Amino acid sequence: MQVEPSSRLRSVVGDKTAKVLESAFDMTVVDDLLRHYPRRYADIGQLTDLSHLRPGQHVTIMARVVSAKNYSFGPGGRRTRTEVVVTDGTGRLTLTFFQQAWRLKTMTEGKVGLFAGEVGEFRGSLQLTHPDFEPVDGSGEISEDSRLGRGIIPLYRATAKLASWRIEQSVALCLDGLAPLDDPLPEDVRTQRGLTDVRTALEEIHRPRAKEQWQRARDRFRFEEAFVLQTVFAQRRHALERDTATARPPVGGGLRERFTERLPFVLTAGQKEIADVIGADLEQTHPMHRLLQGEVGSGKTVVALLAMLQVVDAGGQAALLAPTEVLASQHHRAITALLGDLAQGGMLGGADDATRVQLLTGSLGAKARKEALADAASGDAGIVVGTHALIQEHVQFADLGLLVVDEQHRFGVEQRSALVDRSDVKPHVLVMTATPIPRTVAMTVFGDLETSTLRELPAGRKPIQTTVVPAAERPAWMDRAWQRVREEVDGGSQAYVVVSRIGVAEESEDKETRSLLDVHAELAAGPLAGLRIGMLHGRLPSDEKDATMNAFAAGELDVLVATTVVEVGVDVPNATVMVVMDADRFGVSQLHQLRGRVGRGSEPGLCLLVTMSDPDSPAGERLAAVAASTDGFELSRLDVELRHEGDVLGARQSGVRSSLRLLSVVRHEDVITDARDAAQTVVAADPTLADHPALAAAVHALEETEQADYLERT
Ligand code: ADP
Ligand code: MG
Repeated sequence: MQVEPSSRLRSVVGDKTAKVLESAFDMTVVDDLLRHYPRRYADIGQLTDLSHLRPGQHVTIMARVVSAKNYSFGPGGRRTRTEVVVTDGTGRLTLTFFQQAWRLKTMTEGKVGLFAGEVGEFRGSLQLTHPDFEPVDGSGEISEDSRLGRGIIPLYRATAKLASWRIEQSVALCLDGLAPLDDPLPEDVRTQRGLTDVRTALEEIHRPRAKEQWQRARDRFRFEEAFVLQTVFAQRRHALERDTATARPPVGGGLRERFTERLPFVLTAGQKEIADVIGADLEQTHPMHRLLQGEVGSGKTVVALLAMLQVVDAGGQAALLAPTEVLASQHHRAITALLGDLAQGGMLGGADDATRVQLLTGSLGAKARKEALADAASGDAGIVVGTHALIQEHVQFADLGLLVVDEQHRFGVEQRSALVDRSDVKPHVLVMTATPIPRTVAMTVFGDLETSTLRELPAGRKPIQTTVVPAAERPAWMDRAWQRVREEVDGGSQAYVVVSRIGVAEESEDKETRSLLDVHAELAAGPLAGLRIGMLHGRLPSDEKDATMNAFAAGELDVLVATTVVEVGVDVPNATVMVVMDADRFGVSQLHQLRGRVGRGSEPGLCLLVTMSDPDSPAGERLAAVAASTDGFELSRLDVELRHEGDVLGARQSGVRSSLRLLSVVRHEDVITDARDAAQTVVAADPTLADHPALAAAVHALEETEQADYLERT
């Protein structure tokens, strides 16, 4: 029987195994399994006998189970350790498994098998922890072609129901019957780089006979991952160049010009330069697709506003999407205030040709929503600010010319296209993010965007001073911290207190950390008694969130105890001090974002990072790094080095993430760059991939997972 990559697994490995593969790994077809590469490889070397084991050795032994038993340990005896004693006649060895009580079923007394792993030492005796195990049938025979004959054992990510060697067997069934394959990597792309063809590489990654084989197979598949992804982007870029957009040239004496004249501050050189670049983009007849990265507080909003006004001047409309309601209403407030009478279109006292700025969020009352929708549809609202409710509710625009997406790292890739794909003439798109993104991540996640970067802060900003408060070692510092908060408030400023969770710790949350409710109660009763303290978190009803945020912005609250809902974008210049509780629970970039909430006015900002962790621990060192640097770009590089791949790409980017098995955006910058060039060349010559059917199929599959992933999240 010939096996195709698209064959149902059921027909190749049987119903029972197929069911387990599907429930454990979501695999349904042969290709899914073939792309489940071994996690690592164990060298068999020679069978070692038990009397010759040394700690640190990687060994494979053939032995018989003498006894097996589960032990409970840990808090409440909720964890299990399974100890299996085996013998090969020359000696005995203990195998240890944690949280795998089911091992007892497979390792019954008398069973003979192969065990592979690294020899460790525990309380003076030798043991293997979590060894790979393969039962040997009664004859104990090992054929030439078995894994022992080949000398290398592939170790797969396995589950309780499906051991690594069972996966190996299933893979073998697929490989043995595999029909000839089309290679998604074009031949010249492969030969230029000395990469193996797909069939050989599959064989070598799953059944290597030497280390060099699996290494070069990995190189090939790693490149393939980068290449397919970059082909998606190259195609999108190509399509954008073909797409038409309405040109929105600047209009002399228009809103943009008048607004610029009355700006209460001087634009930084970076703001001017990027505003010009975007202005020129908007004059083109194909859509702009630009990513604006900027240091926290660098003033991205004004740059976006200039672009929006240029579009309004030219007769179009602009939409500004924010990730949270708090941020959307803040943008609405700020833009309305900045524009003054320029935003009072059709109202008494409004300037001639003034426009209107409408807010559209999910929590809007029926009347306000109707008005906002009507203004969007008629074109009376030149600017519509909203959360992604804006997308979901199918807002009709008279003439949407520009879509600005703020804090894009909170959105999925698909989300940004939802509004864009609706019409034939595409709007221009400006995406903004305050978390500086390392180059490779930008190429992997936003590979279809041009990038501009705002590095400088407006003049006159005092740097934020950041201090780590080791609460365990120096309780007195904690008292001093609250005293500082009081002093700031007495001086007319405001403060944030940030916590890592809201209330009673849930299963997944850390019970050691301080909750918002506790901290709020303690502060109100103790160190901050008498101050006006508000609470803000994501689970509050929207109108309550708004009311609290507005009250804080208006100076009616002295202190805001909040979760990370204040992380991005919140702009209250009168806030000068931030105390972050359990600061070690936050990531490096996140802390940098958070402290960007203070010191936004002319007063210097102070950020206190409270932690129970040891200054010498990794967490303590991370906090020290944040305290020592105010450069968001440097910190984001550090962050990327410290974080796991998935966190780097962001939970929201999981469609892309799940397609990356071997490629790391942290470590493989050269591969990503190379693949980008190669993809660009291929797409330029063959935009629809008509001559590259296998590549087209891979691209299509990737886009489908991304899409499916997006749908699942909404
Ligand atoms: P971010 O880039 O973090 O989104 P914002 O756009 O919210 O920053 O700007 C932060 C604050 O700085 C706002 O209050 C804004 O009005 C102000 N601002 C922006 N540009 C300048 C400038 N050139 N000079 C002084 N203040 C500015
Ligand atoms: Mg912002």
